[in-house]
Amino acid sequence: MPRSAYDLSREELAALLTDEPAYRTRQVWDGLHTRALRPAEMTDLPLALRQRLDEQLPAALGEADRRTADGGDTVKWLWDLHDGRRVETVLMAYPDRVTVCVSTQAGCAMACAFCATGQMGFDRHLTTGEIVEQVVAAVRAAKPRRVSNVVFMGMGEPLANYDRMWAAVERIHADLGISARHLTVSTVGLVPGIRRLAGESLPVNLAVSLHAANDALRDRLVPMNRRYPLGVLAETCAAYVAATGRRLSVEWALIEGTNDRPSDMAELARFARPLGAHVNLIPLNPTPGYPVRGSSPVRVAQARDELERLGVNATVRSTRGAEIDAACGQLAVRTVVGTPRVR
Ligand code: SAH
Repeated sequence: MPRSAYDLSREELAALLTDEPAYRTRQVWDGLHTRALRPAEMTDLPLALRQRLDEQLPAALGEADRRTADGGDTVKWLWDLHDGRRVETVLMAYPDRVTVCVSTQAGCAMACAFCATGQMGFDRHLTTGEIVEQVVAAVRAAKPRRVSNVVFMGMGEPLANYDRMWAAVERIHADLGISARHLTVSTVGLVPGIRRLAGESLPVNLAVSLHAANDALRDRLVPMNRRYPLGVLAETCAAYVAATGRRLSVEWALIEGTNDRPSDMAELARFARPLGAHVNLIPLNPTPGYPVRGSSPVRVAQARDELERLGVNATVRSTRGAEIDAACGQLAVRTVVGTPRVR
């Protein structure tokens, strides 16, 4: 039994439909992807087939909780997986775009100090179907609007689950019809993964969660820096930009007194400017395991201005969904069924 209908290849789907007319495979595939339907909703199929497929192509994501904020424009789901693991997905509707933020792992092994997912540790990789199904759920919920952007910025490190993550990218592009320009993979800076990404035929956007531009501080905030320090990370990012023509973005969570001083902005500018990177400043969102505060709104605005003066494009990222723990770095759930972290 597959974990998700979206874990099946087209050939595997065809194998379920050998006693049916040949056009069925295409009909069901389009139903699942283009129309984002559950088999039970495919009313153009004979009833018996619909029922059989509903059993053979189960949903991998059981809705354990759904919360909304920002007047309904932000939706966070908590999903139950078949083995009792839980992950979250966030849908954000803006006037000009609809973005879904997907998880790629249950938990995360990167152990960034300030990140709620990092604080919970690693459980397991998500399958391709479990990743794609998050997008499909968002597509269903967003109707009549279209999901325009997918960011791999939920729970987990996408480049640590490379094969499944990349198969999801290809499926989202080819079958859900979201262009590569509108897909963004975010990483703590796994250099071998970035190199691999640079060689793919679909050029997706790359975001690097930098947070510090000197090795001593970054070693503490983002432990993976000890393995792939800033020098090799910068070189690898430059090669990515050269190979794909995509603009790099740099994520920077502003932490009061830690990485928000003018000297920190000067270091950031020295990293970002030669790469032509766009900087997203995010005031640090509170998490239970990290007692330090985010920078004040005034300091955030100053930091942006300092970067602009240093010749770096920077925007302040709106913190959607903070009141439902759906903002950057706040995704964390217990993994035992029946004990969601609902407050
Ligand atoms: N592991 C990948 C994908 C997760 S993206 C990565 O790190 O890029 C989640 C983003 O939120 C990352 O940029 C992460 O650094 C940032 N983040 C984590 N904790 C945060 C917090 N408490 N406040 C603001 N941003 C945070």
